[in-house]
Amino acid sequence: MPANFAWIRPEPWGIHVVPADHWIDPSRPVDQALVTHGHADHARGGHGTTVATPETLAIMDLRYQTREGATPVHYGETIRLPGGVDATYLPAGHVLGSAQILLEHAGEKVIVTGDYKRRDDPTCPPFQVMPCDVLVTEATFGLPIFCHPPIEDEIGKLRTALRDNPDRCILVGAYALGKAQRVIAELRRAGHRDPIYLHGAMEKMCRLYEEHGIDLGELRLVAEAANKDALRGHIIVCPPSALNDRWARRLPDPITAMASGWMRVRQRARLKNVELPLIISDHADWGELTRTVEEVNPAETWITHGREDALLRWHQLHQRRARALALVGYEEEDD
Ligand SMILES: [Zn+2]
Ligand SMILES: [Zn+2]
Repeated sequence: MPANFAWIRPEPWGIHVVPADHWIDPSRPVDQALVTHGHADHARGGHGTTVATPETLAIMDLRYQTREGATPVHYGETIRLPGGVDATYLPAGHVLGSAQILLEHAGEKVIVTGDYKRRDDPTCPPFQVMPCDVLVTEATFGLPIFCHPPIEDEIGKLRTALRDNPDRCILVGAYALGKAQRVIAELRRAGHRDPIYLHGAMEKMCRLYEEHGIDLGELRLVAEAANKDALRGHIIVCPPSALNDRWARRLPDPITAMASGWMRVRQRARLKNVELPLIISDHADWGELTRTVEEVNPAETWITHGREDALLRWHQLHQRRARALALVGYEEEDD
């Protein structure tokens, strides 16, 4: 393999594309950033210029109100960076606007996946498999115990609980960017036509999804409900942090649910007093991670933010080259 890909360098605060002096998902402000998606641990404010999909730029604009220096790149579009580096944004299937970034320089191809999944998601186009020399993959759920069930099963549990408890409401904790809208869109796909209530903190992101053509059906704010009883028999979506707070205690006898890949781990559900754990993740599970490596078939895999060890071992067992990157600042909140 040529020259160890010296033109692309993992540093603790991001991946440096050296000839172009651009940084991918840097965790501190830089002059020139390439951003994979809008989750806060990947998309930070304060960069000089930001190259991202129009959807990701809209999400960043909503969160940081920093739109100057924004360069939109559509899926499949290639832009030429300084130093002879081409960057192409490809769908990652993670959340609205999420992209893998394909970098090409001196005949070498590197893909940085950002966060991704391989499951169908009505809120974003599916992950695109693209052959490359180096695949930089996340490994949030990089252990064989993580096998996400079909989302239809989890949505089915939610609807069954609703039907069996007409006098209560179901409070679903879901990350405000991506998870909340996917859960709502999947409920609609399963035939749930009733209005879905939102915690106030979810409203703007849901409206942004709607502005980008994602149909979420009738949404209402909890604060606008005529009275407490109007919420009985309904689903309410809130940020995970609101599940056990004072706001939640004013709801009529809520069943506490949480949509997260971590709900596979019972202690996590118990810790958050979750009665109805829903294993719904926007990250690749073990099977999706390994299948992706096989399909992309890179000469070498670089593994970031997650459980690197098992995936490294899997590479060894399958005679594949891999290394773990020590990037800092990625959190689990967008699970
Ligand atoms: Zn993410
Ligand atoms: Zn991440």
